Amino acid sequence: MRLYIMQLGINPAAGSPYPGYLIQVGDGTNVLVDTGFGPKMVEVSRQPGHQGARITEDDLVVNQLARIGVRPEDITHLVATHFDGDHAGCLTAFPRAEIVVQRRHYETAKSGHPRFAGTREQWDDPRLRYRLVDGDTTLLPGIELIETSGHVPGHQSVLVRLPKTGPVLLAIDAIARALGDHTPETRPMGPYDLDEAGTRASTRKLVDLAAREGVKLIVYGHDPEEWKKLKKAPEFYA
Ligand SMILES: [Zn+2]
Repeated sequence: MRLYIMQLGINPAAGSPYPGYLIQVGDGTNVLVDTGFGPKMVEVSRQPGHQGARITEDDLVVNQLARIGVRPEDITHLVATHFDGDHAGCLTAFPRAEIVVQRRHYETAKSGHPRFAGTREQWDDPRLRYRLVDGDTTLLPGIELIETSGHVPGHQSVLVRLPKTGPVLLAIDAIARALGDHTPETRPMGPYDLDEAGTRASTRKLVDLAAREGVKLIVYGHDPEEWKKLKKAPEFYA
């Protein structure tokens, strides 16, 4: 099993990355976790005076996958951690994949929550094949989905048990930046964390899980400092 960490864009002022992940199981199963921003953001990034996320054509997930020889039709499972624009911008590029999302998240979006209106054309498309899951779920042997509501309802993180590296936790936006000296109970909230109590509870859940499972690497959702040290595609963790 291999874990590729892909850079699907960057915020140059903050140095913070927009990641996506590919988990390759030796048998031809390819699990994509998140899809980054969509092509519209490439246009937006080109506008004079644009600030914030800067996305190039090269950053788009299909182009990042192509660099490691993976085509959209090779993706068998697509884990959507949540439908924010920097995570769910290219879902429709993978009509053959089973899209795995927490039922609570899907239903929150479907009920018309304004937070997910901007990506609706991506997640609400009849061509997509969904598998809705309820809470912590084993996706495949060695790949666990961890329900981590708070940032948004029904957010999910991913635990990957790699043969050499050991367990790796993709915290996604449940813990977007390393806690440093903070605890889950004192950590700062991010500007897009909807529910403080839920975010703290999910942070605690992941910290406890990491200790219990002997996690060797926690990949935070958007951490500029950690990003410099991670192996990025085409390198991988095995
Ligand atoms: Zn995010």
